[in-house]
Amino acid sequence: MLVIPKLSKDKFACKRCPDCCFFKKEEEMPLIFYWEKEELEKIAEERGLKLSFKNFLVVETPQEEFVYIYRWIINGKCPFLNGVDCMIHNRKPLSCRMFPLVVEIPKNRVYLSLRCRWVREHIRELSPADLPYVFEEIEIAAKVIGMVNDFLRIAKENSWKIRTETT
Ligand code: SF4
Ligand code: SF4
Repeated sequence: MLVIPKLSKDKFACKRCPDCCFFKKEEEMPLIFYWEKEELEKIAEERGLKLSFKNFLVVETPQEEFVYIYRWIINGKCPFLNGVDCMIHNRKPLSCRMFPLVVEIPKNRVYLSLRCRWVREHIRELSPADLPYVFEEIEIAAKVIGMVNDFLRIAKENSWKIRTETT
């Protein structure tokens, strides 16, 4: 019998469990840009929902203080989860789009979340070098890192103070 060697690792294939849309610990909850917060609040208002956010990356300029990144506080099930479907799939934030990759901000390191069922089942076979091949989501993570880096560069050039507010 001809045995064809396995040439590559399995690509990530979401199992639609959906474990990633349930939250317990605050540090696991999505980080979202301020314009994503505005979009989520608009969607929530259309649906009569109330969402909760906490400041995460705060910027102080000589004129004002503003929040660049928020933590979306979701205790338990995401209000936009319906069965196994995300009701806002086309409008969901980047942190949901890149999952199970997570960008640690502001360090801009990418890690794999063990909250993902597929990741838990495949973690033993994966090495950091596999990530770009296995996860198409790496492009979204790279986009987020680029945006955060650009913002931090602008903040530095303008001597703005940056702080993270974590619990
Ligand atoms: S927005 Fe959608 S993908 Fe993101 S946590 Fe909620 S239900 Fe899940
Ligand atoms: S936990 Fe992982 S496998 Fe399950 S729905 Fe989320 S991304 Fe897909």
